[in-house]
Amino acid sequence: MATKYLFFTGGVVSSVGKGVTAAAIGLTLKERGFKVAVQKLDPYINVDPGTMSPYQHGEVYVLDDGAETDLDLGHYERFIDIRLSRVSNFTAGQVYAEIIQKERKGDFLGGTIQVIPHITNEIKRRVGLVAKTTGAEIVLVEVGGTVGDIESQPFLETLRQLRNEVGRENVFFIHVTWLPHIGATGELKTKPTQHSVAALRSIGISPNMIIARSDFPVDNSLTDKIALFCDVEKEAVVPMVTAEVLYEIPLLIEKAGVPDFLVEKLNLKPTQKPDWKKWKKLVDSVKKPRPKVKVALVGKYVELQDAYMSVREALKHAALAAGVEVEIGWVHASDLEKDKSWDIVQSADAILVPGGFGSRGIEGKILAARYAREKKIPYLGLCLGMQTMCIEFARNVIGQEDANSSEFDRSSEYPVIDLMHDQRAISDMGGTMRLGLYPCELKKGSKAAAAYGESKVDERHRHRFEFNNAYREDFEKAGMVFSGLSPDGKLVEIAEIAEHPYMVASQFHPEFLSRPNRPHPLFLGLVKAAKERR
Ligand code: GLN
Repeated sequence: MATKYLFFTGGVVSSVGKGVTAAAIGLTLKERGFKVAVQKLDPYINVDPGTMSPYQHGEVYVLDDGAETDLDLGHYERFIDIRLSRVSNFTAGQVYAEIIQKERKGDFLGGTIQVIPHITNEIKRRVGLVAKTTGAEIVLVEVGGTVGDIESQPFLETLRQLRNEVGRENVFFIHVTWLPHIGATGELKTKPTQHSVAALRSIGISPNMIIARSDFPVDNSLTDKIALFCDVEKEAVVPMVTAEVLYEIPLLIEKAGVPDFLVEKLNLKPTQKPDWKKWKKLVDSVKKPRPKVKVALVGKYVELQDAYMSVREALKHAALAAGVEVEIGWVHASDLEKDKSWDIVQSADAILVPGGFGSRGIEGKILAARYAREKKIPYLGLCLGMQTMCIEFARNVIGQEDANSSEFDRSSEYPVIDLMHDQRAISDMGGTMRLGLYPCELKKGSKAAAAYGESKVDERHRHRFEFNNAYREDFEKAGMVFSGLSPDGKLVEIAEIAEHPYMVASQFHPEFLSRPNRPHPLFLGLVKAAKERR
């Protein structure tokens, strides 16, 4: 079978859940026995989101191979339960950088470098890489942004060209739009959708399907109207009302007949019938009332919860498995320094300190770790959350008041967290951290080993600083257990406090490997400890 392509474009506004829609459709196809792969094209000029503020971009999602990617890749991995690689996300910045580098080398000697064909050819090459490297039968490609954005034009033009090159019978365009609701009249409006389809058609793309997102029920007269004005078959206008439960979306997509329509139109040959038992069970249990446990999430980007997308999802997965519901109390780390927001921490059954960069809020995170340690509240530290747990321990248990990370205080006399030698000479910020999957060996009898039920694991990293081995002995003598180490013993991967119900922290980011039906052991450990405490 020739590779089939589903191209996803967005209309009207961003943030309507194009990524989740693509992920859910991917799952419905995987359930039919197809090998699927997903790719996100980001039209901004940054080479990757690694250098972007979480306030601008939300979470940076890290893959096995260390690619720093868009958070939609997290949706793809969690919904479809696949492991993606670097080829699954690229930006306009990467495309331009590659072409300009070639131009400087003289590869185009004499030629004028233009968007068409040079940029579009490079985009094409990168889209082609997905099927080539994964052997996928169906590739879902999501174009970031909204139709009409200047940046996305070369991408859309490329997809238009691709339609002819790989054959029209192998390409299907899905346009995801938004139906605004007018409060005064209680109506949903289709005009913005019509306009965005008109914009798409003006660059030569006619959508084959329109998924109309809305916060309110959409009746048939409305979908018929969209079909008529946008020249799409009636069955190909799919209303998608905002779901109460994120993981219900694949079931809704199935029920709306989307995968069956795709099978017919793309002439696909499913090899199996979808089996939704597990997903239905999952959604049913999410909807059932469960006892609540409160987790205080002490972070620095808490106004924008997308910055903690995978952490939030991992907590949900663990809660489901533990038969509870997690209520997250969002705490600004720097508030704790000003004696604010302590009520959230004090009423919580567990404390979670996620990753982050830069010194703002560090002292607040250290205060949260101290509180968790002294009051024996279950604690999970992720990356920076491990580093601050160690700084706190050095200051208040070992008695080294000046302890710090050299990220925050270069003149600290007790730099418990420090740069590794091979990081010292690096001056570039982008793509130069310890990134991606690294092995970790677990110490027998530790809480981490008990949580995992395994002796060796692989986890995803994204950080520059490490625990400083000069202080390992001091820490161990004072009651810290280094329960996860790199196989050569040189890097601390997990630290935990011996005399504590559950104070465990990892240098890696476990949140990236949690799945709805397979919660991450360290998160499950936290939630179970929180439940017990309750
Ligand atoms: N800023 C810390 C470091 O670079 C922690 C990074 C993180 O939490 N992802 O090591």
